[in-house]
Amino acid sequence: MPFAFTDYDPYDFANRRHIGPSPAEMEEMLATIGVESLDALIDATVPQGIRQDAPLVFGAPLSEREVLWKLRRTAEKNKVLVSMIGLGHYGTVTPPCIQRNILENPAWYTAYTPYQPEISQGRLEALLNFQTMVSDLTGMDIANASLLDEPTAAAEAMALARRQSKSKAPAFFVDADCFPQTINVVKTRAEPLGIEIVVGDPFSDLDPSAVFGALFQYPGANGDVKDFTPLVEKLHEAKALAVVAADILALTLLKSPGEMGADVAVGSTQRFGVPMGGGGPHAAYMACSDAHKRAMPGRLVGVSVDARGNRAYRLALQTREQHIRREKATSNVCTAQALLAVMASMYAVFHGPMGLKAIAQRVHEKAVRMAQGLESLGFKVGPAAFFDTLCVETGPFQGVIMRAALAEGVNLRAVGSDRIAIALDEMVRPAEIEAVWRAFGGAMALEGPSPEPRLPAELLRETEYLTHPVFHMNRAEAEMTRYMRRLADRDLALDRAMIPLGSCTMKLNATAEMMPVTWPEFGGIHPFAPADQRLGYAEMVADLSEKLCAITGYDAVSMQPNSGAQGEFAGLMTIRRYHIARGEGHRDVCLIPTSAHGTNPATAQMVGYKVVPVKARANGDIDVDDFRAQAEKYEGRVAACMITYPSTHGVFEETVREVCAITHEAGGQVYLDGANLNAMVGIARPGDVGSDVSHMNLHKTFCIPHGGGGPGMGPIGVKAHLAEHLPGDPISGEGAVAGAEWGSASILPISWAYILMMGGEGLTQATKVAILNANYIAARLQSDYKILYAGKGGHVAHELILDTRPLADSAGVTVDDVAKRLIDCGFHAPTMSFPVAGCLMVEPTESEPKAELDRFCDAMLAIRAEAQAIEDGDLDREDNPLKGAPHTVEDLVGDWNRPYSREQACYPPGAFRVDKYWAPVNRVDNVFGDRNLVCTCPPMESYAEAAE
Ligand SMILES: *Cc1c(COP(=O)(O)O)cnc(C)c1O
Repeated sequence: MPFAFTDYDPYDFANRRHIGPSPAEMEEMLATIGVESLDALIDATVPQGIRQDAPLVFGAPLSEREVLWKLRRTAEKNKVLVSMIGLGHYGTVTPPCIQRNILENPAWYTAYTPYQPEISQGRLEALLNFQTMVSDLTGMDIANASLLDEPTAAAEAMALARRQSKSKAPAFFVDADCFPQTINVVKTRAEPLGIEIVVGDPFSDLDPSAVFGALFQYPGANGDVKDFTPLVEKLHEAKALAVVAADILALTLLKSPGEMGADVAVGSTQRFGVPMGGGGPHAAYMACSDAHKRAMPGRLVGVSVDARGNRAYRLALQTREQHIRREKATSNVCTAQALLAVMASMYAVFHGPMGLKAIAQRVHEKAVRMAQGLESLGFKVGPAAFFDTLCVETGPFQGVIMRAALAEGVNLRAVGSDRIAIALDEMVRPAEIEAVWRAFGGAMALEGPSPEPRLPAELLRETEYLTHPVFHMNRAEAEMTRYMRRLADRDLALDRAMIPLGSCTMKLNATAEMMPVTWPEFGGIHPFAPADQRLGYAEMVADLSEKLCAITGYDAVSMQPNSGAQGEFAGLMTIRRYHIARGEGHRDVCLIPTSAHGTNPATAQMVGYKVVPVKARANGDIDVDDFRAQAEKYEGRVAACMITYPSTHGVFEETVREVCAITHEAGGQVYLDGANLNAMVGIARPGDVGSDVSHMNLHKTFCIPHGGGGPGMGPIGVKAHLAEHLPGDPISGEGAVAGAEWGSASILPISWAYILMMGGEGLTQATKVAILNANYIAARLQSDYKILYAGKGGHVAHELILDTRPLADSAGVTVDDVAKRLIDCGFHAPTMSFPVAGCLMVEPTESEPKAELDRFCDAMLAIRAEAQAIEDGDLDREDNPLKGAPHTVEDLVGDWNRPYSREQACYPPGAFRVDKYWAPVNRVDNVFGDRNLVCTCPPMESYAEAAE
């Protein structure tokens, strides 16, 4: 052939990156489904009545190179100054080996929440290290595996205190020295529950008999370090609970909350190696005394054993959680901050107790030097005892000094009109301390021997921490790197196999999208830095918000919520404020279909709403008659409904407009759970079908990785009439739901880059292919499994429910057995028992190529054949590959007395021969773990014991 220019575009979205099947594969798949074209499939699947009229138009899609160029230009508009602002966000040095091997490593960041323990042992161990670190440093009995941020952790602690306190008093006391964003978020949570918040000086204003609990900040926002022991005692006498929000680094030097008698400790682990990121993400912690462990919100990693009696980790006490207990759950927490908790735990593993203590001492030394310098200039510096934060009296010179510091490249914090707070951290250099002195008018050099410490003598820490061997490894980077690699290798993440979890949208997290996350222009920004230093962020947030509005049909967006569940809370609170503003604050009923995600009822309960369940019809759709009947029954009380679209049954219901109309007629507002937006983008818009509010899970539809259980972002979109009721600014406004204006700002570039690289057409194509992939799986599996629900045209939306219940009767095979057998085949199981008990919900997403879909289908068909062999008597009913799954390398050696072969056990269809994924443990015993609850690293000798 003579030379000719090709029209193949190597940078085109359709050929590269986000769309799994090639055009040729799509043709084959369409033929298998039995439809003519992709558009014909969409027409037959998505009801005409809900289709959007105009295509999404975002201009030409950008190539990776162009998008990174644009992001660079945007990032440069952020100005990274030295931050001495404090208030819960500090400069910290991320050890490069942790940055590269954890934060930038898809083996860690593309993993899912560790619900399937056998394929999650690596991150479960890292999270157990996190819990051990937190409970050691706080001196508390038990810690959870992270919460979203310090302010929401404090709000959760208030809710815990309310549940657990024997005091009937109606109020909760909050130390005026708490961070302002914490006070704001606690107030937001308290209001719908009728909890009165009393803010004051705990040493003069706290009346223990008038409160069911109190929150203290340690050290306080302006540096005070106080012993709360006597206050805790008084609270306990009044049967009230004490919560201490403590700085994790300070605790290496100071008496712990546990030693003060506190019931709950909360805080942030950001300064353990996690960049500030303009507000996040970072992992908050919560720890409590043993008495309250069953009331704890969020995830808890525990130790159990596997089928061989070997030690194995798993999530413990899940019966507290929203996915099981719904409106009676201890919280609505689903996505938390697993990846950042892993980073913080590795920081502690990396530095060990000696290193952490040395870092804390250096920070303190810098603070003392700073104070001495300012005192030598004649300034009055408080408090007398402090850890890292000072408060300087400036009189009328506050503004002048603040400006001079800015000119020196340092952000300080104005307090009132005549003081300045200065917080020191791991990053601050000597020259930067000198720069601050210059701003105060002094030209001194930092020199001389270490000064006398100014920590409070009576609060010096005397107890040990981080004594477990994991925190005492050889400090060579070789060992550290191998430890992180070893843990990563135990887990199955998206970098190895498709994770077909229905409702979770485990799609590709493209590398180009991830790169900006670790750029210092995004990472090094304090959330309360002056607005003119955050212009890059502001520009990105504005454009991303605008695009999300165009995608969803809403008019305004709040970027605060750090997860979908937080978005639900923010959304229902917005609805609540709207009703109150119209004099209809008495509305208190929330209609929720029985098929709803557990976060929906759990959230409704948090805003004080009564959850009224609505039935489903036999075909899975909302029973509109029942919906109407409930709306009539609660006439005048309906505040909202919470529906999911397409439904959690994986169907585009024809009746969605009707359900919205009934809600509006009843005076309620529609909350449309946007978790399934991946089936809608470019095709239909929630705002057009009658919804008033939705959250958009950026960690599902918009490519933020799941991180093994967080981070996430759940911004909400609202119609214009609700815009004025959105959450206010965490510092200056009211009704904040998170500690930072833009939530976890530093991961927003991921979603923005995704949208820019796809363009409107690419996003729409992704939606169509997501629907294609799901229908292809349905077509391939329908001969062997019943597909529970389908829409009018016989098609599913972007996910499908496989009915595995008949296998229980015919072969004694449970949904658990199928899930564990899939591990042998090299897959993460689909979503189990949601929304239908005993079934599997499969969501392939558009990212998966045909070969991977086929591998999954082959595995599912082989599993059905194994069940058939049991039915036919060719395999034993009790002792078969399904019951024995997952199999490990241990099963390849030693005695083998099972009635099936090792070959059959370990290499079922779908499993790779060379690249086989080996689960590190056999099936984990859930019940044992809950009966013998251990949530910190077990002592080293018990490892040897367990292995016997
Ligand atoms: C994932 C999901 C949520 C909760 O989102 P998180 O970010 O995990 O809090 C809510 N509803 C549905 C249907 C979901 O799939």
